[in-house]
Amino acid sequence: MGEAKRRRQARQQAPRAFDMQTGKGLVLRQAGLTPSEFMRSTFTGDPHGTAEVPCDGCRECCWHHRVGVDPAAERPQDLAHLTMEHDADGYFLSKRADGACVHLGPQGCTVYSHRPRGCRTYDCRVAGLAGLVEPFEGDHRAPAWHFPVRTPEDKAVLLAAGLAAYPYVKRQLSGETLPSWAEMLVTVLKHVHELMEEFYAIPEDRRAQAITEIAAKLQGRDDG
Ligand code: SF4
Ligand code: SF4
Repeated sequence: MGEAKRRRQARQQAPRAFDMQTGKGLVLRQAGLTPSEFMRSTFTGDPHGTAEVPCDGCRECCWHHRVGVDPAAERPQDLAHLTMEHDADGYFLSKRADGACVHLGPQGCTVYSHRPRGCRTYDCRVAGLAGLVEPFEGDHRAPAWHFPVRTPEDKAVLLAAGLAAYPYVKRQLSGETLPSWAEMLVTVLKHVHELMEEFYAIPEDRRAQAITEIAAKLQGRDDG
């Protein structure tokens, strides 16, 4: 099979989502780990470490509305490479006229080994887990992600993430002002964590059935 045909087939078989804002289909990128593996790494990973996102050439979050920098939490040798501004809310990376970070070059981040903690730990898959796509400046946005579901625990995480994000989706649809993405995602993760605690309290042999019942109840609510 030719390479072009193989790619076309792979595109056709890739999971897709519908972007309500643009009216376009989105190809979901593979998150590289299951929902429960992702949650475990999110909660047990080194909070000061580097998020291992399979970015694969994507640079969309370099158009983030505001990349905050806490000078007290950064190494002086890194701060020396960063161009920042500050306002009443603190320091943030300066931007180019088109809304991108001032350090974004044609080949990617020009200060990669000195990028601030916000860049090193940012993981757009958190929003993706809840079925959300984070928007940045202009038309820039994070990819939509696909998480392979293999166990009842995986199903429970996806369900919990969807439930945790649902109030924000409702508010968005009714035109209400939403909190910042950072605030929303922290709350979503907190709720997912709480919901998963309830899931783990269910005896192991009843978990799959419990998920089926919850999903059926939600389906009924949406249909109503
Ligand atoms: S938006 Fe996500 S995939 Fe794209 S560069 Fe940022 S972290 Fe990587
Ligand atoms: S410092 Fe580098 S990684 Fe961070 S937003 Fe700027 S260009 Fe992107």
